[in-house]
Amino acid sequence: MANNQPDVFYESVQKYFDNAAIHTGLPDGLLSQIKACNAVYRIHFPVKFGNEVKVIEAYRVQHSHHRSPTKGGIRYSNHVNQEEVMALATLMTYKCAIVDVPFGGAKGGVKINPWEYTPGQLEKITRRYTTELIRRNFIGPAIDVPAPDYGTGPREMSWIYDTYRSFHSGDIDAAGCVTGKPVTQNGIRGRTEATGRGVYYGIREACSVSEDMKKLGLTTGTEGKTMVVQGLGNVGSYTAMISQDEGGISIVGVSEVEGAIYKKDGIDIHDLLKFRAENGSILNYPGAKSFPKERRREVMEFECDILVPAALENQIDKENAKRIKAKIIAEAANGPVTAEAQKIMVEAGKMILPDLYLNAGGVTVSYFEWLKNLSHMRFGRMDKRFNQQTYSNIINVVEELTGKSVNDAQRAMIARGADEIDLVRSGLEETMIVAYHQIREIQKRKRSIKDLRTAAFVNAINKIASDYTSFGIWP
Ligand code: GLU
Repeated sequence: MANNQPDVFYESVQKYFDNAAIHTGLPDGLLSQIKACNAVYRIHFPVKFGNEVKVIEAYRVQHSHHRSPTKGGIRYSNHVNQEEVMALATLMTYKCAIVDVPFGGAKGGVKINPWEYTPGQLEKITRRYTTELIRRNFIGPAIDVPAPDYGTGPREMSWIYDTYRSFHSGDIDAAGCVTGKPVTQNGIRGRTEATGRGVYYGIREACSVSEDMKKLGLTTGTEGKTMVVQGLGNVGSYTAMISQDEGGISIVGVSEVEGAIYKKDGIDIHDLLKFRAENGSILNYPGAKSFPKERRREVMEFECDILVPAALENQIDKENAKRIKAKIIAEAANGPVTAEAQKIMVEAGKMILPDLYLNAGGVTVSYFEWLKNLSHMRFGRMDKRFNQQTYSNIINVVEELTGKSVNDAQRAMIARGADEIDLVRSGLEETMIVAYHQIREIQKRKRSIKDLRTAAFVNAINKIASDYTSFGIWP
């Protein structure tokens, strides 16, 4: 699932922007400012392992400062290069605008294969990279706030936080310098599942519109639909688990680095994840047909209703696009469909739920985490018990007035105050629903807009342009 065509990715993102820009009627100068990457920081730094010194190549790109701080993950991968990080930072700007998260877009990348290093070595690299960002003022709760991305997770975020904190001991908001931290270290409940959960909410919302499903020849709702998932990392596995458990979707195919499997009548995703943890591979999963590494891409072309590319960019290109059978392509990864492939699939009448909307759940919950860090208080702490008591009082009055009583299970269900996880999920659900209908409305209103991606870009560009003008940045 490697990306060997970084320039294709950046080109695709720019092309998507241009396709949308013509529908906005905004002046060229303003569009050029919105499109450009504001700052690209490329560094090489040495790290000593035993007697050997390794020089590491790394990046941080801040695409847009129309809002502060800038925000976006840090990727650890051998394929990291400047254009890839620029493309990812660019997507972050539009992503944040679409879900009304008040940040500019950014992204970081460290060119290493994280699986070739020990945790101790990774810690050294992460701390050194953070120090480089601090030196250049490229990190801080009001400046630029990293988060996890491909190859990184809560562990790396806690190293970043700790490094930042030791340089800024007087900064009471230091915890807001990075999101995706472990819950025990100023993280937020629900961040790890957030991107996958957001992907599910987006799919569910799209499937709930009967008119659109009818056009695709599908039934309304998620129940009974089939799904193929490419990539079982954090995003792919949570998307699959939540789609199966909450949406009644049947996972029929899965692909990973070691190969792919397909089972027409469905794979229990929890069982498969357990199988992979025990055997180190999804291959030979009982009852499923296995495909070796070289043929793993084929699983994306198999019969299913929803295809979820959840790995890296450029996975569906002009070569395999015409063979995709799924009616809905749900972009859980960033940039999985090239501009040429998108054209082929839109012409074939498929619905593409674009990355800049669909995987925005991660940054949405990162925003909640950042707010939590700045407010220095857990969500739900003030009102949970108060609400619980109020609901309980209502039940008591109803019981008294009717002479009937509710049972314990009913009381527990009704007289309940929200915990942090409930509020995070509810906020994420609301965000994904509202954003979907904004985009869909734009597409419906303008007949010349043929796909949801263009509509999403139009939505984002208009919001960013309005920021520039209303802040007086633009004459
Ligand atoms: N890396 C994630 C993304 O691509 C999350 C970014 C964030 O939480 O800031 O959206």
